[in-house]
Amino acid sequence: MPTSSSTSSSGRNKPRTHQGRDHMTRIAFIGLGNMGGGMAANQAKAGHEVMAFDLSAAALDRAAAAGCRPAPSAGDAVEGADVVITMLPAGPHVRAVYRDEIAPRAKAGALFIDCSTIDVESARAVAAEVTALGFRFADAPVSGGAAGAEAGTLAFMVGCAEADFAAIEPVLAPMAKAVIRAGDHGAGQAAKICNNMVLGISMIGVCEAFALAEKLGLDPERFFEIASKSSGQCWSLTTYAPWPGLVESAPSNRDYQGGFATAMMLKDLKLAQEAAAKAGATTPLGAQAEALYALFDRLGAGGKDFSAILQLFRGVAP
Ligand code: NAD
Repeated sequence: MPTSSSTSSSGRNKPRTHQGRDHMTRIAFIGLGNMGGGMAANQAKAGHEVMAFDLSAAALDRAAAAGCRPAPSAGDAVEGADVVITMLPAGPHVRAVYRDEIAPRAKAGALFIDCSTIDVESARAVAAEVTALGFRFADAPVSGGAAGAEAGTLAFMVGCAEADFAAIEPVLAPMAKAVIRAGDHGAGQAAKICNNMVLGISMIGVCEAFALAEKLGLDPERFFEIASKSSGQCWSLTTYAPWPGLVESAPSNRDYQGGFATAMMLKDLKLAQEAAAKAGATTPLGAQAEALYALFDRLGAGGKDFSAILQLFRGVAP
């Protein structure tokens, strides 16, 4: 895991509004959705010149209101940029945008950072293509959701050449509470899907336990109090309790609105299963978690926070 030279947790403490023009970097930001919108805004707040592009005019308008300069295309945005950051839906979008828009128009030696969550294979393929053209590349997926994107408190898991990390970390700092180098190209994506596979499995385990506790007539509050201090303790229980009324900030207290959507969890579990199949890894609980989240999604819960899967085990409509 990370060494001190490959880890930073300095983002939250850095001044975000006036870094000074001498530190100004010209950044192209492509993909301004739920995540990219807040991230690009934090780069603008940090005093950088941010050339922004999204296929959605509404997203582009929001970025302009947050201090970014809208560009007419991704290719136009990257022209003259020192750094290109992408935050796109999936592997095919990332492959196409780097191949067709970014690589042909970016300036020599520019630094490319893809923060999207995509398959390891696509991340490695894009890295190979653009580094062969003389660009530097990092896959740097994030944890922290839209709230973390807006607050500038994301955790970045970075896959890059060791020599490039020193240049990458300060670029990510205005958006980050932690920047950790996971390893070489693709390692950031590998870390992200392994982490989220743990999260999906552990949330299901916690939800099953609450549903069983209820059937056994055990008060959920007492169960929470006991398991929080016992070996059942984990993040899904104590930070993100799926049973309402136990952890104030948890989406379970807001009818499972906001947070991390079931559809997003399903996407990450699918990526984990695809990667496991290609690598020959045995991940039966990851496969089961994918199947359960696919079922929950089909029941219409795709937009609800992933902790709402509690209702599946309680037999309650999502
Ligand atoms: P989103 O759908 O809100 O945003 C994606 C944006 O990309 C959209 O605005 C879309 O118009 C734009 N886009 C698509 N193709 C484009 C193209 N060719 N050129 C320019 N713009 C294009 O999605 P999001 O929630 O912001 O997620 C983005 C990435 O972050 C995904 O890979 C997701 O898995 C990952 N992620 C999301 C969360 C979360 O909680 N939302 C958390 C961690 C990671």
